[in-house]
Amino acid sequence: MPSFDIDRARSATPASANILHFNNAGSSLMPQPVLDATIEHLQLEAQIGGYEAFDQQQDLLEHGYAAAAQLINASSDEIAFLESATAAWNAAFYSIPFKPGDRILTSMAEYASNYIAYLQVTRRTGAVVEAIPDDEYGQLSIEALRNTIDEHVKLIAVTHVPTSGGLVNPIEAIGNVAREAGILYLVDACQSVGQMPIDVQKIGCDMLSTTGRKYLRAPRGTGFLYVRQGLIEQIEPATLDMHAATWVARDRYEMVSNARRFEAFEANYASRIGLVTAIDYALDWGMDTIWRRIKELAYRLRTRLTAIPGVIVHDRGITQCGIVTFTIDGVDPVDIQKQLNAQRINVSIAQRSSTRLDLEARGLTTMIRASVHYYNTDEEITRFCQAIDKLAAI
Ligand SMILES: *Cc1c(COP(=O)(O)O)cnc(C)c1O
Repeated sequence: MPSFDIDRARSATPASANILHFNNAGSSLMPQPVLDATIEHLQLEAQIGGYEAFDQQQDLLEHGYAAAAQLINASSDEIAFLESATAAWNAAFYSIPFKPGDRILTSMAEYASNYIAYLQVTRRTGAVVEAIPDDEYGQLSIEALRNTIDEHVKLIAVTHVPTSGGLVNPIEAIGNVAREAGILYLVDACQSVGQMPIDVQKIGCDMLSTTGRKYLRAPRGTGFLYVRQGLIEQIEPATLDMHAATWVARDRYEMVSNARRFEAFEANYASRIGLVTAIDYALDWGMDTIWRRIKELAYRLRTRLTAIPGVIVHDRGITQCGIVTFTIDGVDPVDIQKQLNAQRINVSIAQRSSTRLDLEARGLTTMIRASVHYYNTDEEITRFCQAIDKLAAI
């Protein structure tokens, strides 16, 4: 196995010298080239004008579609850039026409924003939402999914990697069920794109959304949506503007023929350029290399945390990713977060309200979430576990 070039990763991440950042599932640290490209575009806007800066950077912005497509094995015409994963997911979900009795099947680990949208749409349309139970490993049960499929299932919408732990849902097996039954399939890949190789052909999804700010290490307020070529012409976005469509006669508009019908004219182009640079940067490392390194670090972190008296690691699933969740007996996770923060160690809190179905079923309210990325080190894991050991002993 080739060794990982940690010096290169850390020197491109200057803040890693000052803080121990285990909050990559919240918002990762931008590598220097990403920060530089973002700031340079803002400066260009200030120097020559916003439209003129756009024109000057048009090749790079165009290249972004190819780069995003390469990252998930799609084609450029299947990519739409939006201002967040939520905006991307909403653009997809709210475009699906539901009628009374339609069933939406989702996962136990579903993200709050998605579930709130299901609740809103089921109230508006008379469709119903149902969560497929987990199997014994804590993953969405393929058997339960298969057994519940009938002609009323309109959509299967699942979260690949939940915000609340190391679980990686079996999205390819879910895709097989969706394809066999001819059911629309939407994947929230917010925590997985940039963390592990993603291949929409293998997944067999119709739509997939992701963010920039997490494992892709892009600026906040960025995201993109994949829409399968064959679906684009059949689906009308819930909202349109003069970028998504052209006003061709007094009473008529024509939508653009590619996935950009889901985009809007106005965007934060500096951040978009940051995202494009971040995608190129991830591709340059190689997604296999990144994923191998993250899995290795997370495995070590879980193993060492488990050895600390009073610490319970809560991650589930057969394959476990870079998100590590745990609690300490008798200690409030929010206090732990504060104490760590005072030592320049960043973690976040997994709240019940973010993944209510899953945390309620497991009887959990809050957990500490420590999420590692490839630029983190063994030494940081040691330091982190020493800090936790001290806090657990109090
Ligand atoms: C963070 C997250 C989102 C939202 O991403 P934004 O870019 O903030 O919109 C959606 N789904 C999951 C599973 C997430 O973890």
